[in-house]
Amino acid sequence: MALRTGDQYKEGQAKIKHNLYINGKKVENLEDNPNTKTVLDANARGYDLGMEPEYDEITNTISPLIGEKVSRWVHPSCSAKDLEMRAEMAVLNSQKLGTCNYRCPGCDVMHGTASITYEMDQKLGTEYHKRFIEWLKYIQKNDLAVSGSVMDVKGPRDLRPGKGDPDHYLRVVEKRPDGIVLRGARLHQSGAYGVDETIVAPGVAPRQGEEPYAIACAIKNSQEGITYIAQYNAMSAEREFMADNSKLGNPIYGQRETCMIVFDNVFVPWERVFLCGETEYAHSLLLRFAKQHRMSCGGSCKAGFMDLIIGATQVLIESLGLDKASMIRQQMTEMIRVREISYGLAIAAAYRGKEEPKGSGFYLPNDTFGNAAKLNTCDGFWEVMKWAGDIAGGFAVTMPSEKELENSVTKPLVEKYLKTYAPAEDRMRMTKFLQNWIAGLHGVGTWHGAGPRQNQMIMLYRDTDLEKKKQMAKELAGLKD
Ligand SMILES: Cc1cc2nc3c(=O)[nH]c(=O)nc-3n(C[C@H](O)[C@H](O)[C@H](O)COP(=O)(O)OP(=O)(O)OC[C@H]3O[C@@H](n4cnc5c(N)ncnc54)[C@H](O)[C@@H]3O)c2cc1C
Repeated sequence: MALRTGDQYKEGQAKIKHNLYINGKKVENLEDNPNTKTVLDANARGYDLGMEPEYDEITNTISPLIGEKVSRWVHPSCSAKDLEMRAEMAVLNSQKLGTCNYRCPGCDVMHGTASITYEMDQKLGTEYHKRFIEWLKYIQKNDLAVSGSVMDVKGPRDLRPGKGDPDHYLRVVEKRPDGIVLRGARLHQSGAYGVDETIVAPGVAPRQGEEPYAIACAIKNSQEGITYIAQYNAMSAEREFMADNSKLGNPIYGQRETCMIVFDNVFVPWERVFLCGETEYAHSLLLRFAKQHRMSCGGSCKAGFMDLIIGATQVLIESLGLDKASMIRQQMTEMIRVREISYGLAIAAAYRGKEEPKGSGFYLPNDTFGNAAKLNTCDGFWEVMKWAGDIAGGFAVTMPSEKELENSVTKPLVEKYLKTYAPAEDRMRMTKFLQNWIAGLHGVGTWHGAGPRQNQMIMLYRDTDLEKKKQMAKELAGLKD
């Protein structure tokens, strides 16, 4: 079985005893809580997309490891074409779900791990790659959902790992003959309780002396010692309060759900450990993961989100009778510009992808285009939200509840006074959908997901050959060295 349906994925989740808390309460079953259920529903829809022939090329491929059709979510790319399809898969899932592609960080950590473990086995004579490939075959054969865990809780940002509370960065506290023991906590983990496994990678570039923090491995969901503490905010409360999901901004798939994962002496057998103590390679793993994630999460995924914002705004434009206004068209064009640059750069990053390292068979995108894609998204997403909010008007945040349409007193008033060219009900529905984007969690989420702006600025500057550009300018200007 190399491809599961959404129902099969959910059946698998139903068997897991989740050690999860939300808003101070234990969640025994993800289906029972309206917020955690959105993660299950989003992942299930993602699995079902893989069954639709129309999307087969984008979502699936033949695995060179097991010789069967597998989901691209568990396939580290083996060509530039694979990378392109990976980017397209992010666009597609974002368009269909309007929420996080929860299997995205896991897929991208797999890309980095496949590449670095190959290099380590070649140069150090380790067995990390062999182990990783065996684990990956198991994941592929069972079509398991995998999340990616990189970001430590960190504590004070000016302290290196180990200098403050030693557990603020995930670390190895014990090495045993049969495996290692982990302690620490990770923050912002997208949908991590709603998967089968999590692949862990270093969140900082550990230096010499920080070996316990150089760790990559795979853990099973809810294994002993793991606690998940889910995010909770006003939109979580709204979903809990509203018995009827259809009145929410993204009715089925919700906001982006994340959680904190606490590792309290979690045992990981050696066959699931892919890096342990090699600080130099831990840094490279982090960089290779980031390279991949900026193309997919920073660039293409957000192009899918922007499609939804642009589409919703156009629906409102037509209902408000603004479709002939040249200023409005300009604003829409600005939104489309931002979307196309992020998308175009992500695809360019894939096209210029290279085998890394040579001989490994694994491909990673072009870093410059990936960083530029993410930078464009960081700034551009706010711009898109600005224009969408401008066009929707103050109603984007002042609209009454759609529940007024169920009240015999307020229904006729709302219907009369809030109709435009569209009935009040349709206008309110689409405005609520847009509110989810422009007045919700996505601005900050998009900025920080795949790393804050400064990270890409550093990489872009570092990777640019300024000497070469100087020479070009000097040569043409007739300046001698
Ligand atoms: C919605 C969402 C989903 C996510 N999903 C995942 C996931 O699935 N898996 C995962 O591992 N991570 C995930 N992340 C984590 C994401 O990569 C981080 O949020 C991001 O890297 C920023 O880290 P931080 O939030 O701790 O902010 P910080 O690191 O605190 O950054 C805040 C600001 O401080 C600056 N700063 C931080 N440290 C320093 C320093 N030493 N010197 C100078 N300036 C500094 C930063 O540049 C930034 O401007 C997710 C984040 C979000 C918001």
